[in-house]
Amino acid sequence: MPQTKAIDKEALKRKYMEERNKRLRPDGNAQYVRIEGQLSHYLDDPYVPVTEREPKTDHVTVAFIGGGFAGLVTGARLVEQGVTDVRIIDKGGDFGGTWYWNRYPGAMCDTASFVYMPLLEETGHMPTEKYAHAPEILGHCQRIGNQYSLYDNALFHTQVTALNWDEAAKVWQIKTNRGDDFTAQFVGMGTGPLHVPKLPGLSGIEEFKGHSFHTSRWDYDYTGGDANGAPLDGLGDKRVALIGTGATAVQCIPHLAAACKTFYVCQRTPSSVDVRDNQPTDPDWFRGIATPGWQQRWLENFTQNQTGGIAAEDLVKDGWTDLSRRIRAKINSLPEADRGNPLKMLSAYEDSDFEKMEEIRARIDSVVEDKQTADQLKAWYRQLCKRPCFHDEYLDAFNEPSTVLLDTDGKGVERITERGVVVGGIEYEVDCIIYGTGFEVGTELVARTGFETTGRRGVTLTDYFAEGMRSKHGIHVRNFPNAFFVQPTQGANLISNVPHNIIESGMTIAMMVRHALDHDYQTVEVSQQAQDEWVDLLMTGPGMMLGSPDCTPGYYNNEGQPASDGAKYHVGYPTGATAYFKYIKAWRENGDFEGIEFD
Ligand code: NDP
Repeated sequence: MPQTKAIDKEALKRKYMEERNKRLRPDGNAQYVRIEGQLSHYLDDPYVPVTEREPKTDHVTVAFIGGGFAGLVTGARLVEQGVTDVRIIDKGGDFGGTWYWNRYPGAMCDTASFVYMPLLEETGHMPTEKYAHAPEILGHCQRIGNQYSLYDNALFHTQVTALNWDEAAKVWQIKTNRGDDFTAQFVGMGTGPLHVPKLPGLSGIEEFKGHSFHTSRWDYDYTGGDANGAPLDGLGDKRVALIGTGATAVQCIPHLAAACKTFYVCQRTPSSVDVRDNQPTDPDWFRGIATPGWQQRWLENFTQNQTGGIAAEDLVKDGWTDLSRRIRAKINSLPEADRGNPLKMLSAYEDSDFEKMEEIRARIDSVVEDKQTADQLKAWYRQLCKRPCFHDEYLDAFNEPSTVLLDTDGKGVERITERGVVVGGIEYEVDCIIYGTGFEVGTELVARTGFETTGRRGVTLTDYFAEGMRSKHGIHVRNFPNAFFVQPTQGANLISNVPHNIIESGMTIAMMVRHALDHDYQTVEVSQQAQDEWVDLLMTGPGMMLGSPDCTPGYYNNEGQPASDGAKYHVGYPTGATAYFKYIKAWRENGDFEGIEFD
């Protein structure tokens, strides 16, 4: 969309600050409540019934906690290396992780499927759309599980309760809530960052007499319809309130708007919602690109474009690469003498952000018919202050006569009553409340994973990380031999496409396990020196890129509260994701696994 008027940057900065200050609250993360006790029914699995089974008391070569992309990809890479005795454990009733739980209507991937869905080349799957919908991604998880025979040994509906290193036997002991007590030579952990649903700490939640559920436990028995997009025909005579307008809500709102008798969208902070432009995949085009090695090329191309490198072309062309391309173009438009000047570069970056956000706000005016609603849907912050969203039907939903935006001007829903929700002192009676209020972030690790990890000499991971995370590559942690952590931090830290981090980690871990088994090593552990050097190297980088404290509060910036001292370790390789992926490939292929002690 072309810019028609000059941007008053100072006025925008003032507006951003005003909107941020409105939302700051002293309780930060504590505004949310854990789902436990009387609320624990919000965690029940509505998708797959729990089946009885005998507890496991055996030994496996590798146990992996988490059956999402991390467990599946690492499992697949292990199988490719001939390590087939792999047991994946998950609290869900199947593989899929986040895609197992998030089956809300309209759920889809926000990063292009061709780089987001792992092992496409290995499985021969062609994503049917540029941005695949959730059922296809869940199906792909099942495809990987089947192709690599990972189902045979998997334990579902199983929550690990303790993970203890047995120094004498040089194995990990794994206990679960299903009575399992077995051992593994190696353990992997891919427990994911956003998987414990949370509720707002509002009085009255337990008193509400109608129906209610969290978006990650969608109750299709109540709403009708299904995850494949069948209309929610159970809601035609229902008044429904949805609390939250984050990335999840943005995707399910069009479906609810089309179905409910009355639909209240309770908004505290608007999301920025840019154009999606999803398209079905043309099989002829796909055949043309899917030549040997295609997905790795696409992954590398996406990462390079997204993280500021210069690639000859942008293969993926999605919202993320567009975001980076714009920033780069703005910086390149600076006079040559200014391009190395950090202040000028920052100001160019800021300009590109103001322009983008003005464009996003202008789009609202062009789609939403009611002027007040349009104004209330406008996000007043920099685009990366909160999770950027992309959607083509979201804004139209507010033109449905049944949809009512209950904007709370940053204050949030005040309380829940027996009959409904209270916003701005007014009670809105509803039959159903849907909580789109997100997932625990920044709470205690043990609270999120459900178990403590106890390494050599009884050292717990909680204590070891008390002053901040320490690792090599984000994978190995001193005192926790034969344990591998599969997550982005202290590695590439590529947040716009987490699967790329996982793919590289899975490959690295599989090669190390193969190496240990081939040489009859009992333990694999990072040396103290190698870990210290890695952390020192990380500290030479630019620091945290997301979650600036002057942003509007949210989970990106610890709800606007000062970050803990340890947060400075939540960074990636100093020279960026592309450089990290090159480095780690060379590191593992060299075969020395420098910095790792095999014994
Ligand atoms: P979020 O944490 O992003 O959103 C929670 C929402 O609840 C926010 O809008 C928040 O408002 C609102 N809220 C909380 N308390 C209240 C209250 N008292 N009254 C009114 N509103 C309230 O959770 P989501 O589930 O939307 O998304 C979580 C993450 O999952 C995303 O950020 C993204 O990383 C991921 N995701 C990815 C998708 C993909 O395509 N790959 C799709 C969907 C989600 P406020 O903003 O003011 O805090």
